[in-house]
Amino acid sequence: MRCLWTIAVAFALLTPAGAADTIVLKNGRRIRAESVVVEDDRVRFETPSGWVSLPLSLVAHIEVGTTGNDFGSPVAPFSAPALESSIPADDVAAATLRDGSVNREWLAQLELQARSAEPRAVARAVAAHHAAAQFFLRRGELESALAHYRRALHFAPDEPVALIHLAYLHLRRSEFTAALEYLDRARRRVPESPEVAKLAGWAYYGSNRLEPAVAEWRRALALRPDPEVAAALEKAERDLEVESRFRGSQSRHFTLRYDGNARPELAQDILRVLEEHFAALAAALNYIPPEPIGVVLYTDRSFADLTRAPAWAGAVNDGRLRVPVQGLSQVTPELARVLRHELAHSFLAQKTGGRCPVWLHEGVAQWFEGQRSQQARASLLAAVQRHGPLPLAALESSWTELPAETASLAYTWSLAVVEFLIETHGLRDLERILDRIAASATAEQAVREILRTEYAELEQQTVRFLSRR
Ligand SMILES: [Zn+2]
Repeated sequence: MRCLWTIAVAFALLTPAGAADTIVLKNGRRIRAESVVVEDDRVRFETPSGWVSLPLSLVAHIEVGTTGNDFGSPVAPFSAPALESSIPADDVAAATLRDGSVNREWLAQLELQARSAEPRAVARAVAAHHAAAQFFLRRGELESALAHYRRALHFAPDEPVALIHLAYLHLRRSEFTAALEYLDRARRRVPESPEVAKLAGWAYYGSNRLEPAVAEWRRALALRPDPEVAAALEKAERDLEVESRFRGSQSRHFTLRYDGNARPELAQDILRVLEEHFAALAAALNYIPPEPIGVVLYTDRSFADLTRAPAWAGAVNDGRLRVPVQGLSQVTPELARVLRHELAHSFLAQKTGGRCPVWLHEGVAQWFEGQRSQQARASLLAAVQRHGPLPLAALESSWTELPAETASLAYTWSLAVVEFLIETHGLRDLERILDRIAASATAEQAVREILRTEYAELEQQTVRFLSRR
């Protein structure tokens, strides 16, 4: 297990092009190699001491080098529910959305009429709130979408479309218990809904309860083919197979699963360290995740097989923290740092409703891990001089497609931006940006509203910050 940041910098300095591949031998050994070529019956690859080749018959498979991130989401975000609407489609939706915004006067008028409880008036008020909620959902403004669906339930407490969307919105915020309550209510009205089963699977998976998650997704697929569910189910079944022989443990904010080869003392030690990190992050970010966070410890190579993590990743956060602890008997400083980094990802994902851009995710996670940009300052400035600053707008979503050199630079650059942000504006502004991201159309808009700075200006300020040091 290696320090993610150091490896990232090493990539930048040592391997100007192409990420390393991993050759997995049939005996289980893994060899990291550059420039892997398969020729006839041999595999040729480059090592620091020159070219080497192996008989192809010894090789199980070759994992193509990946850059990308150490976090992601295995099931979420499922796309928003696609429902056969029980809400009548008429002129109501069009009248609710006018000139690119929600017509509040019209909504108030419909609500007034709905107070009579006359079915058609109620249906019209619900349809209007559904249209308004969808408008905000499309813009990524989850809080406003939630408010409209709650309002719809006020008039029609068992309306499945509102219940299912409310569940979906709570799932986006990792509020699994609340989501399950809405899904239970929806199921009473629409017991055969594939959407209810799909979302219930997500809620169980997120709460680290694999058996009911698998059962729900199997049920969802039996009701309706769905590639998102099929992919999530495949992953959950693989996890379940490995974890069925795992033991469980828990602390106040974590549910832990670990295989029988890990010492229970190590599991307890990890929970203790995680609780310390949890308290520190909760205080710094003024946020407490609503549900216990799932953690899985692996003592064998199933970590790499299951997570398909980049070879450099010390651990992975894909909704649950997956941590390889092979050969460890206690929490080393290295492991403590990795845990803190991964836990920061959980806080960021949940506080922003899954909308935190990747540059901010990785910058903040590294910052909390204790990394600072000082070491990489010279190489960052040199890169900026050659190509200009990396545009933050290009670093908002997954880095998997970035060339290895750019991805590694992206880590140090994101750290520098976050370091500048915290040292100049303070943790409180960082926290306000995260809150705003959860409710804004874009992350850049949130940054603009809190710091009164465009991305381009923030990039320039960071360059000046690095030059001053
Ligand atoms: Zn990370």
